[in-house]
Amino acid sequence: MSQLAILGGEKTRSTPYPHWPVFDERDIEAVTSVVQSGRWGGFPYPGPQTREFLERFVEMQGGGYPVLMVNGTVTMEVALRAADIGWGDEVIVPALTFQATAAAPMAAGAIPVIVDVDPENYCMDPRKVEEAITPRTRAIIPVHLGAQMTDMDAIMDIAERHHLIVIEDCAHAHGARWRGRGAGTIGHFGSFSLQSSKILTTGEGGILLCQTEELQKKAESIINCGRPYEYQGKIHYTMGANYRLGELHAALGVVALQRFPEQMKQRNEAASYLEEALSEVPGVRLLRRDPRHTTRAIYIYGFAIDPQVFHNTHEVVCAALEAEGIPCDTGYPPMHRYDLFQPRLSRLPVPSAFPDRFDFSRLSLPEAERAGERESVWLDESVFRDGQKGIDDVVTALKKVVEHGEELARAAARRLEK
Ligand SMILES: *Cc1c(COP(=O)(O)O)cnc(C)c1O
Repeated sequence: MSQLAILGGEKTRSTPYPHWPVFDERDIEAVTSVVQSGRWGGFPYPGPQTREFLERFVEMQGGGYPVLMVNGTVTMEVALRAADIGWGDEVIVPALTFQATAAAPMAAGAIPVIVDVDPENYCMDPRKVEEAITPRTRAIIPVHLGAQMTDMDAIMDIAERHHLIVIEDCAHAHGARWRGRGAGTIGHFGSFSLQSSKILTTGEGGILLCQTEELQKKAESIINCGRPYEYQGKIHYTMGANYRLGELHAALGVVALQRFPEQMKQRNEAASYLEEALSEVPGVRLLRRDPRHTTRAIYIYGFAIDPQVFHNTHEVVCAALEAEGIPCDTGYPPMHRYDLFQPRLSRLPVPSAFPDRFDFSRLSLPEAERAGERESVWLDESVFRDGQKGIDDVVTALKKVVEHGEELARAAARRLEK
């Protein structure tokens, strides 16, 4: 085999993977007609595009009372506030996720409690959730990470026994199903991001699915500056802010949903093909395919490398893969290492008020550390939209990197010495 591209050899793949987001004339027409209608913003809520987009989203996802808002972080903050969770309450979150999963409880005045992940799927480990429960625990935020889903049977069982609210972070899970039920419709809330990298995007945006109409009405008021709302013949007030999304974004969502089922099928077929092919690559460990996870959504796709077999940790392996033309990265670092959550580096109200409960540097979360600091490799979504050739290139590049592992390690060591 030829030399590694990172050491000056030829790239496995010289053409880029397909661009994201995709668009065509329909998006341009949809936005144009909203511009011409003069109804651009999100007030009064919901506008006609918002209404149509949410109706179709609920149909696709399979349930819930939806609220459209500006992103997939405030969705979780609003969910917590709608459930009356706030100052000093504890919210359990997994160690491998985007910072939003912990920032949202902090914005609501609550304390994120970080727990370790299950090494077989990199999602929150239900046993660790159970161990982390205290009298102050009010909610759990499982994150359906990459192509995986958290064990929702176990999470809902824990939540029922301890009277906790469950907010599913579905930023990666549009279209995913657990025993036939849509992600985000199993817990009390489902939070979806529509940010431009996600598999369903309106540029920016977020959808909160609520389990009841009552929670939906309350969440709608919170995102609508706390305007009073009527429920069951009574007028209610919330303390809110403007978190509404505009109609231009909603119009893009209506079109994006027309393409979504076909894209999903394409990604899922590519993922199954990848899994067959990866079983031949030494040192690669696939994550679990839980039979209860009946439909997958492929945003980023994670697997583990064995640093012994590769002679390198994931950082060097990803750099070598990138050089081969394969878009990937090492994924989320374990969240308890983030500077953002160190009390001395943050002047946010919650860490300042509860410095002892915020010192995450004391935590030891071995599975998240093993994955996030040494082993996890996450392939970009675009890899799954280029048919078999797109996947074959990944496998060829990985084989090349593992075969040249020792040489790569020597080069990496030389670079460190310099
Ligand atoms: C993208 C993402 C979010 C929210 O993203 P926004 O940019 O606020 O829409 C939340 N959780 C996870 C895991 C994400 O990847």
